[in-house]
Amino acid sequence: MLRLQQPLDERYTLPTTDALHTRIAAAKASLGDRVFILGHHYQRDEVIRWADARGDSYRLSVLAQQQEAAEYIVFCGVHFMAESADVLTADHQQVILPDLNAGCSMADMADIDEVEEAWEALGHVTDVERIVPITYMNSSAALKAFVGRHGGAVCTSTNARAILDWALGQGERAGREVVGSRGGGDKVLFFPDQHLGRNTGLAMGYGLDDMALWNPRLERGGLSEFECKEATFLLWKGHCSVNQRFRPEHVAAFRAEHPDGIVIAHPECSHDLCAVADQVGSTDFIIKAVADAPAGSVIAVGTEIHLVNRLDAESPDKTVVSLDPLVCPCSTMFRIDAAHLCWVLEELVDGRVPNRITVDPATTDGARVALQRMLEIV
Ligand code: SF4
Repeated sequence: MLRLQQPLDERYTLPTTDALHTRIAAAKASLGDRVFILGHHYQRDEVIRWADARGDSYRLSVLAQQQEAAEYIVFCGVHFMAESADVLTADHQQVILPDLNAGCSMADMADIDEVEEAWEALGHVTDVERIVPITYMNSSAALKAFVGRHGGAVCTSTNARAILDWALGQGERAGREVVGSRGGGDKVLFFPDQHLGRNTGLAMGYGLDDMALWNPRLERGGLSEFECKEATFLLWKGHCSVNQRFRPEHVAAFRAEHPDGIVIAHPECSHDLCAVADQVGSTDFIIKAVADAPAGSVIAVGTEIHLVNRLDAESPDKTVVSLDPLVCPCSTMFRIDAAHLCWVLEELVDGRVPNRITVDPATTDGARVALQRMLEIV
């Protein structure tokens, strides 16, 4: 999705990074408790060093909600995260994204018009009252509001299993009462990340033949009426351009070099990669798994390179490497740098609020319902 970030002027593009750090420190000190800086794990080191809190997308939104004294929440992450923070924070708080072009290609793979069309198309061939829509946290506020309106919930990569258990009436969460919702359905429409949906469904004991891939570019998702009726998981054809890059060949190459090494993958990686990894889990899981690994371990991690490099730097008794030696950073996360952070902080000091991210009231209400259901379920 195209967003327009104004180019920074020379006061921000010419100085050295050290000079920018001096100015960031001064602006942050001047703003004091009025500002709270959130840094996603995938941010560059020159940005994360200024974060008052680090975390994954959901944890950061909850942390934003807890900073009631902070007038400004500077969210060093991507657009959907800033939207979620705006949904969860109070009216007196303003959420700022240092670069408006910091989007998420995965979140952009499902927009509200496409999802509304899919829902309507499914309504022609099956009973949508029995479908529970589930959206990954990595989605626009409009999609969160959609699932809020249609009895579904948001999930994260940490709690996807619990949310899908609830949605399909399985396990200890079967029958859990959640106001205004409809857990215990016959099937889920899961968007936008096909891999998280597939990996979670397989871990729950479903098979690949219980799943169908919904391609929003094709009529009725490219599926037959029979496939729409039979599938328990309708998986949206979206993916993370970073995590989908990791392949089983990378695991084989790593194991050839390090037979005792440990492979940890993010569940946004493809199923064939996850099937050969030693451990699979969210960014928080990966951080804990590295911390828990024995001293001397060599660990290959399949996720964004800034987190991998930071884990290596912060684990001197272990070696942490990227599963793919040629992996690129997330290009949208990478847009935020010291210059953009310096710019937004100095603008705030001067009494201007740049790059404020706002979600309209109706969307906020629906999205908050979907997020609240997630909290009630887990
Ligand atoms: S790493 Fe993937 S899911 Fe995360 S912001 Fe980048 S494209 Fe989106």
